[in-house]
Amino acid sequence: MQCSCGSRGDLVEIGDNYAEFVADLRCLKTGNWVKLLQCNECGQLWRTDEWDKYQTLYALKLNSPTGWERVDMEPLIKERMVENHGGLDATICLAKECKLHTLKGRAYCVDHFYETGARA
Ligand SMILES: [Zn+2]
Ligand SMILES: [Zn+2]
Repeated sequence: MQCSCGSRGDLVEIGDNYAEFVADLRCLKTGNWVKLLQCNECGQLWRTDEWDKYQTLYALKLNSPTGWERVDMEPLIKERMVENHGGLDATICLAKECKLHTLKGRAYCVDHFYETGARA
């Protein structure tokens, strides 16, 4: 069976198919709510969130295991959130003194929406 690593992007939302996603990966290390996994087929490294049914979960491709736990996912996730919302609105964020445009259909910009705990 061929793995699907090659056909996936660098950042993958895996909340909806977590079990399926990790099925062909073996766990190399476990951190604080994150895991370092490796594909049995192609050797691709993945940094994944620990399973949590209330959160949007992400997996990120890594080229090297060095510093895997400290990889900053925030900018990548924010970029994905903007994509998920179909871009930004012309309206300005409701947060005090924030001058950024809101996510489409939301009252807040991506930074402030992220602060509420949103990850999708
Ligand atoms: Zn693979
Ligand atoms: Zn804001």
